[in-house]
Amino acid sequence: MKSTLTNYRPNWMTPELEALEEMTRRFFLNEIIPHRERFEAQQHVDREVWFKAGEAGLLCASIPAEYGGGGGSIVHDAVILGTPAALGDRSFGNAVHSGIVAHYVAAYGSEELRRRILPKAASGEMIGAIAMTEPGTGSDLQAIATRAVHDGDHWVINGSKTFITNGLLADFVVVAAKTNEEGGARGLSLIVVETAGLPGYSVGRNLHKLGQHGQDTVEMFFDNVRVPAGNLLGEENTGFVQLMQQLPRERLVLGYVCARAIEHCVDVTTAYTTEREAFGQKLSSMQNTRFERRLDAQVARQRAPQQRR
Ligand SMILES: Cc1cc2nc3c(=O)[nH]c(=O)nc-3n(C[C@H](O)[C@H](O)[C@H](O)COP(=O)(O)OP(=O)(O)OC[C@H]3O[C@@H](n4cnc5c(N)ncnc54)[C@H](O)[C@@H]3O)c2cc1C
Repeated sequence: MKSTLTNYRPNWMTPELEALEEMTRRFFLNEIIPHRERFEAQQHVDREVWFKAGEAGLLCASIPAEYGGGGGSIVHDAVILGTPAALGDRSFGNAVHSGIVAHYVAAYGSEELRRRILPKAASGEMIGAIAMTEPGTGSDLQAIATRAVHDGDHWVINGSKTFITNGLLADFVVVAAKTNEEGGARGLSLIVVETAGLPGYSVGRNLHKLGQHGQDTVEMFFDNVRVPAGNLLGEENTGFVQLMQQLPRERLVLGYVCARAIEHCVDVTTAYTTEREAFGQKLSSMQNTRFERRLDAQVARQRAPQQRR
C-alpha cells in the first residue's frame, strides 16, 4: 500500500537509509507479518526471528562495530525500528533490545562485559530486557523495592519486576536495584543479570495488554540471585544518573516509532474509506468523511513550509 504520508520524508533521510528502510520492510513482510496471528496468540515472536534479524543486520545498528554492532547512529535505529510500525507491526521487541538495553551495556559496562554481551546481542544469540518497573512503583523509580547487596565478589539481588518487555526470552536483563538505603536517587544501581540457568531467577505471567499482543511483557522474580560484581554498570549508586542520560534517546526513538505507527493508522483508514461503500457511495465521498479529509489537508498545508526548510 502506498502511504498517504509518502511525501513527508524526514530531512535526515539519505539514499543509504532508504535502502536500509527497503531491506527492513522486506524482512518484516517475509519473516514477521505472515506469522503475526501466531505470534499474537503465543504472545511473543519465535526466537528464530531474532537470529534472522541479527543475520540481516537489523540488531544493534547503532552500537560500535568493534562490539559487533552496525557502527551506525540513531538515524539507523529510527529507520529499522520505525519501518515495522509503518507496516502495522509492534510484535518484535527490537526497540527495547537495540534502541535501549544494548546502549546501557555499551555506555557503562566494563570492557569485558561489553565484549561478552554486545556481539551476541547483535547476532540475536542474546535477547536484552530492562527491568525498572515494579508492582509497587513505575514512574517514581527512587521508590523501587528490589535490593542488591554485596556478598564477596558477587551481588545478591532480591525483588520483583513487572511489565518487562522481551522478558520471556531475555538472556540478559539490566536490573535497577537499590544499593544504598539512605541515598534516594543516589542509592540506585544498574546491574546486568545473565539469565541462562541462573538459580533464583524466574519469569512470571506473560501479561495481556490492550495492544502489542505479539510482544512479551512479563513479571520477573529475583530470589537471592547471585551476579558477578563486574556486572555492575558504571559506578555503584549512579544508576539514576545513567537512566536520566539514556532516557532522552529512548524517548526520541519511541516517539518516532509512534509517529510511524500513526502513519500506518492513516493509511489503513484512507484505504478503508476509499474502498468501502455504504448507501451507494464510497465512505470517502460522504459529507462527514470529506470534512475530516479537509482538516487533514489543512494540517498538511500548514506543515508544508516547514518541510521545505
Ligand atoms: C507495553 C508496556 C511495556 C513496558 N515495558 C517496560 C520495560 O521493558 N521495562 C520496565 O521497566 N518497564 C516497562 N513498562 C512499564 C512502564 O515503564 C511504566 O508503566 C511506567 O513507568 C509508569 O509506571 P506505572 O505503570 O507504575 O504508573 P505510575 O507511575 O504508578 O503512574 C500511575 C498514574 O499516575 C500518573 N503520574 C505519575 N507520576 C505523576 C506525577 N508526578 N504527576 C502527575 N501524575 C503522575 C501517571 O501518568 C499514571 O497515570 C512497560 C509498560 C507497558 C505498558
